[in-house]
Amino acid sequence: MVIASASGALPLLFIAMVSPTFLKPGAFPLLSAIIAFTAITVLFAAKIGRLTDVQFAILGTGGMIGVAVSAYLIADPTGTRAVTSMLAVVPAIAASGSPGRVTAAVTSGSVLLATWLSVITLSESGLAVTFVAVGAAATTVLVPVVLIAALRRSLLAVNDRLSVLANTDPLTRLLNRRGMLSQVEALLDKACTSRGRVWAYVVDIDHFKAVNDSFGHAAGDQVLVTIAEALRHATDRTGSQEAIVSRIGGEEFLILTELQPRAPLEAAILERVRAECDVTVSVGSVTVDVRASLDPRLSFEAEHESPHVEHVIDTIMHAADNALYDAKSSGRDRSAHAGAVLVTWKARTAEERSEIAADLARRAMP
Ligand code: GH3
Ligand code: MG
Ligand code: MG
Repeated sequence: MVIASASGALPLLFIAMVSPTFLKPGAFPLLSAIIAFTAITVLFAAKIGRLTDVQFAILGTGGMIGVAVSAYLIADPTGTRAVTSMLAVVPAIAASGSPGRVTAAVTSGSVLLATWLSVITLSESGLAVTFVAVGAAATTVLVPVVLIAALRRSLLAVNDRLSVLANTDPLTRLLNRRGMLSQVEALLDKACTSRGRVWAYVVDIDHFKAVNDSFGHAAGDQVLVTIAEALRHATDRTGSQEAIVSRIGGEEFLILTELQPRAPLEAAILERVRAECDVTVSVGSVTVDVRASLDPRLSFEAEHESPHVEHVIDTIMHAADNALYDAKSSGRDRSAHAGAVLVTWKARTAEERSEIAADLARRAMP
């Protein structure tokens, strides 16, 4: 966008060469300086690809001053006013992607320059005309900025909403598998840098097929909702509020927690389900020792988006499923523990995570 808008200065030079009276006398050197700045802007933007906020603020401000001076150099006031409207371009670009303070700064600068141009070209026409021209110039800058900023805000809100929907199971409102995976990365990162332990619990409803067969699918769905609620209560009661509680399959749930629960979580789950639901569950649990990996192949540069998190979850699930099988085969409505499994994880620092997030956002830009 910066390249396209900066290139707009070129026709001015061309017209000035063809029709010398187009500009005020002695304007040519100043216009050449503006064209040189424009060329630098275009080349720099083309080389960098995406400007930082500071780079954009500097080049954008330079560009606006260039537009204002070009407008001032045009001999005919009508031409000046036409070019003045170009001052709206940089604030509009800022509103579409820059932080609020950059947008506010270039918008104020743009309104000031537009006011200056209106005053110097129209002061002879009287106060009323100047006043109207200043108002019109300011409106030309402000309306697109406000509209674009409002559109951008609603787009971000829709994006946030979509991301919540994509990560949530609509029936139980628990995290779905995708949502669970996105949170497990942070859990493992934290486990790597602290005590290095995670507790996992796979919860499966007992004889759930019989519920569907006897009472219908809708009643089965309602049972799933009450189970989800009971799991939330169990984690709350054992002081594991930070636990990741997810629905990972039809009637199967996974709870992961980094802090060891105050009371045994599997006992609390069985107790809450007995008290609140018309079914029972079986629980398979596993203790996960998380070791920081120094293997460079697991670094985030190699596997950018999700470094082997699925593999780690598979390892955890395999052990927990074995324990679940033991709990089922020894009578259901009980828990079994699989002991400890070891997983390796390449932890990422907060900087690395924000770097990845910024890079993904950049790639998502059209
Ligand atoms: P077990 O005690 O061995 O776990 O027996 P089970 O009947 O619970 O296990 P099984 O795997 O045989 O059956 C699971 C059932 O869960 C079958 C399937 O129809 C049901 N189910 C899966 N997803 C849903 C759902 O979203 N809603 C409802 N109502 N039922 C579901
Ligand atoms: Mg079951
Ligand atoms: Mg099952």
